[in-house]
Amino acid sequence: MNLSARAGRIAVSPTMKVAADAMKMKAQGIDIVDFGAGEPDFPTPTHIGAAAHRAIDANFTKYTNNSGTEDLKRAIVERYKIDNGVEYLPSEVICSAGGKQALFNSVLALFGPGDEVITHMPGWPTLVEQIKLAEATPVIVRAHAEDGFQLRAETILAAFTPRTRGIIINSPDNPTGAVMAEEDLEAVAREASRLGIWILLDLCYDKLIYDPVPHNVIGVLARHNRDHSVLCGSASKVYAMTGWRCGWAVGPAAVVGACNAIQSHSTSNVCSITQKAVEAALRGPQECVTEMLDEYRRRRDRLYGWLSADPRIGLRKPAGAFYMFPDVSEFLSPDGYRTSAELATALLNDAHVALTPGEAFDAPGFLRISYATSMKELERGSERILQFLATRTGARAASA
Ligand code: PMP
Repeated sequence: MNLSARAGRIAVSPTMKVAADAMKMKAQGIDIVDFGAGEPDFPTPTHIGAAAHRAIDANFTKYTNNSGTEDLKRAIVERYKIDNGVEYLPSEVICSAGGKQALFNSVLALFGPGDEVITHMPGWPTLVEQIKLAEATPVIVRAHAEDGFQLRAETILAAFTPRTRGIIINSPDNPTGAVMAEEDLEAVAREASRLGIWILLDLCYDKLIYDPVPHNVIGVLARHNRDHSVLCGSASKVYAMTGWRCGWAVGPAAVVGACNAIQSHSTSNVCSITQKAVEAALRGPQECVTEMLDEYRRRRDRLYGWLSADPRIGLRKPAGAFYMFPDVSEFLSPDGYRTSAELATALLNDAHVALTPGEAFDAPGFLRISYATSMKELERGSERILQFLATRTGARAASA
């Protein structure tokens, strides 16, 4: 089949493959414990759903402004003002169908052939694919387990070349949960500002940070590289609204204007009902976020405790998001499971636990366990994993 060169350059998200296999097995009636999902298991908070019901009843069901209603854009900038102390105008905001589209619009608006765009691994694979779709060149820098997967300024700065045009940073990171330190981002932002390099910040998990560490990355960018920064936020994970599809980009009016033009020729406005719901999420009580975060923290700590029973699992407590990202290289060998992908497949087929291999995030030797599922499922899944590893990965289990 003669597909375009562009289509030939990209692949379907590898995180989707495990989900599809797990779904197939569930459909066959197999009892799968699913640690694959990258979305909250909580229902959307009731006051948010109620706003959507009101929107339908009021027949708020027509096209809106392409970039979103004034009310929603105002709610977004007010949230950032309250939470991060930064001032933006509604004209510096565009609402899109998820953080994914906000990022994609921004990448298309800013980068093209000949441009190098730095991003980091282990990381969310979509960021690299979006750079490729824009026909720019992704330049990958790495964060390391020994350093808590911290993304360091010197690592990013060392990747600068005369062709560097942008940097895309995800903090907290999917899959490691690492939160970028303010001082590292500041050092990058200062240099980027001097050289006119764009920084796109993927803030998908920005309210899901467990410990009271300073992490106002939004404030840092606004102070040190405001003219060349785009903040890409999302209602998906923070408010348990993945299916509603709403994210946003906030940045210089010229970039937002370009995103608006691109979106006007692709998807147009975010669903009008969703916009009312997200407005209620941003303006309403934020306790629902704290409650979900508290529960994620309890799950993280219990999961960590359960999996610690096998000291060969290289565990670290994530600082943010809702994924544990253990090092499982101790279980790999040339005559056993050779890769974490093989181990993940065996865990699914034989232990009936679905999780995502590190290969999906350019981090072979690791597994991603999503703990956006109930405590009971986490306990059941942990038991299955421990049992599987003890019996299926060689005699070393006995001595562990
Ligand atoms: N960024 C990261 C790091 C993500 O993990 C995701 C979703 N998996 C997104 C952005 C986009 O999410 P959405 O489009 O639902 O806002």
